[in-house]
Amino acid sequence: MIKNDRQLMLQTAELLIEYLSENDNADVAISEYLSADDLQQCLNLTLDDESVSHDRIIDDIKQYLRYCTRTSHPHFMKQLFSGSTSAAIAGDWVTTVTNTAAHTYQVAPVATLMEETLITKLNELVGFESGDGIMVTGGSNANLVGIYCGLHKRWPDIKQEGFRGQQPVIYVSDQCHYSYEKAVFTLGIGTNNLRKVNTDEQNRIDPEALRLAIIEDLKLGKHPYCIGATSGTTVAGSFDPLEALADLADEFGLWLHVDAAWGGPVLFSETHKHLMRGVERADSVTWDAHKFMSLPLICSAILVREHGILESACSGGGQAYLFHEDENSDHNYGKKSLQCGRHVDSLKLWLDWRYKGTHGYRDQLDKSMQLAQYFVQQVNAHEQLEMILEPDYLNLFFRFVPDATIDATNRDQLNLDILTKMKENGSFYIDYATVKDQLGIRLVLVNNRIETSHLDSLLDEIVDIGNQT
Ligand SMILES: *Cc1c(COP(=O)(O)O)cnc(C)c1O
Repeated sequence: MIKNDRQLMLQTAELLIEYLSENDNADVAISEYLSADDLQQCLNLTLDDESVSHDRIIDDIKQYLRYCTRTSHPHFMKQLFSGSTSAAIAGDWVTTVTNTAAHTYQVAPVATLMEETLITKLNELVGFESGDGIMVTGGSNANLVGIYCGLHKRWPDIKQEGFRGQQPVIYVSDQCHYSYEKAVFTLGIGTNNLRKVNTDEQNRIDPEALRLAIIEDLKLGKHPYCIGATSGTTVAGSFDPLEALADLADEFGLWLHVDAAWGGPVLFSETHKHLMRGVERADSVTWDAHKFMSLPLICSAILVREHGILESACSGGGQAYLFHEDENSDHNYGKKSLQCGRHVDSLKLWLDWRYKGTHGYRDQLDKSMQLAQYFVQQVNAHEQLEMILEPDYLNLFFRFVPDATIDATNRDQLNLDILTKMKENGSFYIDYATVKDQLGIRLVLVNNRIETSHLDSLLDEIVDIGNQT
């Protein structure tokens, strides 16, 4: 490495460490929010024919850090990802520096064995005794691979023959993540064959309505083949009843996929794992470690109960030059993947797991669930605040109601105005959502830096702004 490069790396590391330590301070603004047009004016983004100096590169990095959103800030409660540990960040740096593709054992020996260890660990949590799995490019992709494995199981020659006029149908709840929709149009199943089944007042799929839908489709000559359950819905944090869904899957011979991208970590907790009772009867499970477990994006896996199905469903090509037969062929992850080059996502998770221990994740989950209960108590105790949903998990959905006489339209507008003000202030990042025509403020307790004091200040600010608006 030449001298200047060394300097650039050291300076960058220092800037990043400084940036991370500022995130500990709740008084630092989460972002200097600017519209795209205004930001364009502040940044120099041109790409020129001539090279620039290292100093300019350092300035560019400073600009980036200045205007990026501080997602590790304790007031960042807007999305399903946040924060990360120094061990995970170090893992990501090492991954970048050692740049390799996790497709063959030969070019990624340690990463491969770490990935195997992680997949075994996650399968133990889920209860797949001889399961298999692979890290993928996100929960959306894991859902696609999961329901694709189901197609392959039902029609083993689908890789060669396609659907041959059959109409596979997949059943999800009306609260499922939109990635199911993308998966079905990518796979050629068609969005009209994604049946969205009604949910109950806790936003869980209604198994009786599901049964009727399956029977109706069978009568129409369609081919029900898969139930796509959700453990921890994105907006409301609801858990579909997996035992009942597994019974239906058995009865009708369907593949059961569980999207646990958000809710999966309840399995770490003795107190809360009942929310996913029956998951060991699923055929495939989506897991996102970049959500509740706070790993740097992207860090996800698809787990399958049947060993071998990933490889038979996803393999194809590459033998001529990449996947040579040798003593380590069984460790070549590329054969079970839809990708060719694969980013190493295992090291950061493996290091983070070592660093926190399994009990670290358990404690984080239990603590966050207690914070959710605390939040509900504070809202219920305040006469100008109301919960819209009683949470099962870490999604908190509530609103400001200044007085009993306000009509729904004005109330909804007022809540949106409060959020706009907060975005401009850069003090808290939260969002709004609509669940079954109810509009409210939504926040998510995924950030492991959140304490009760942060929640108190949040509610104070909402009430203050609400009363001034
Ligand atoms: C976030 C989410 C996904 C998508 O995961 P990505 O990793 O963002 O692709 C899928 N399902 C649920 C329930 C989610 O919350």
